[in-house]
Amino acid sequence: MKNVYKLLAALCLCMGLISCHDSQTAPLTPLESSSSGSSAGNGTVVPDGIDTADMAQSDVYSLPGVGLFKLINAPGMVIYTDQSQGATLAYVNKTTHNSFYFCFDPTCSHYDCPADILHLTNNMVYCNGKLYAVCPEPERGGGGTSLYSVNLDATDLRKCYTSDGNEIYNPLVWNNTILFSQGRTDGGEDLIAYDTETGKASVINDRYELDIGTYFAARDAIYYTFIGDTYLYRTRDFFETSEKLFDIEKMSNRLYGDQTHLYGVEYVRDDNGGVYAGRIVRCSLETGDMEVVYDGHGEPLYFAGIDDDCCYFSYTTGTPTPYKRSDGAPIVNPSGGVLWRIPKSGGDEEVIMNDIDYDISYVGKIGDDLYVLGHKYYERGSVGGSKTMTGILSGGTVKEITPR
Ligand SMILES: [Zn+2]
Repeated sequence: MKNVYKLLAALCLCMGLISCHDSQTAPLTPLESSSSGSSAGNGTVVPDGIDTADMAQSDVYSLPGVGLFKLINAPGMVIYTDQSQGATLAYVNKTTHNSFYFCFDPTCSHYDCPADILHLTNNMVYCNGKLYAVCPEPERGGGGTSLYSVNLDATDLRKCYTSDGNEIYNPLVWNNTILFSQGRTDGGEDLIAYDTETGKASVINDRYELDIGTYFAARDAIYYTFIGDTYLYRTRDFFETSEKLFDIEKMSNRLYGDQTHLYGVEYVRDDNGGVYAGRIVRCSLETGDMEVVYDGHGEPLYFAGIDDDCCYFSYTTGTPTPYKRSDGAPIVNPSGGVLWRIPKSGGDEEVIMNDIDYDISYVGKIGDDLYVLGHKYYERGSVGGSKTMTGILSGGTVKEITPR
């Protein structure tokens, strides 16, 4: 099962993220003071319109491991990795929908600044007033990743945990603690808990005989599996005690949880093991009872996310785009450019985005807006290409995001 998740994480890495396209220029406001006492230099500005009093934690939960293609729901801003011109850390102002690089020096060319240093992150979380990002360790030369923290005004960038040459991934926030996996030299994985208040890290999985595999938060608890075991477990006291719940082997796609249910996809396979159909199922987090939310159209289905009311998905049969590769082969949009949704308790499916040049990889509801992450296909010189883009579906219209 672990391998399935890793495969899915890798698949997600092949798909796209955000970008918002806005022709208006929003003025940046000079930084009046910095309560962090950080090293904000001259010309540093705060994000426009960001209400730093709103310190709510992210309300977007998904299976960790979606790599670059993740939205961070931080106070006032949605943070993402923009890949329209290389990869650079950027954010969208939740109120204005304007997008900017995550660096508030208007004279910066974004080299060796937070937007640049954090751009290679393979995962980020927001916790306790700071953005935490897992970044490669170029100074080591031999690989390995570290956990960095930075304030939301891009000041006080610092390394807060280093893996000593190993890879760390899948950060998850729980009660001001960041959980993440760390590879071991014997091929196993350790689950590490980094306390953002004390700065101390401890190994969690040494409490168990098996290594913890997948883990995610579904608002009321941390849910997890062990490597080699398809049962789901739950802990509400940070792994001090846990409950063995039920077998989730059938739910073999990306999982999303809310307060009452876990949502996933059950695939139907042909004789060769290929997927020929998928349907959305949910299981009660209390009873383990499984029910079908959506039977599907008899085609492979990609589960893009949930909000309070609906499940979002596309079909992965693919459609040709108007663009060709350099060898003349058509470029196919795997998700067909159509985004669907269905009420979580079942009902009628609905097309909410149609005929769009997006390969949809993730959908997250933040406030009243639906953020849609995906690749956008376009003509690049004489051949087609794709770049990671984000769209916001707000008030019925889609806005593409491009930072500046
Ligand atoms: Zn910069």
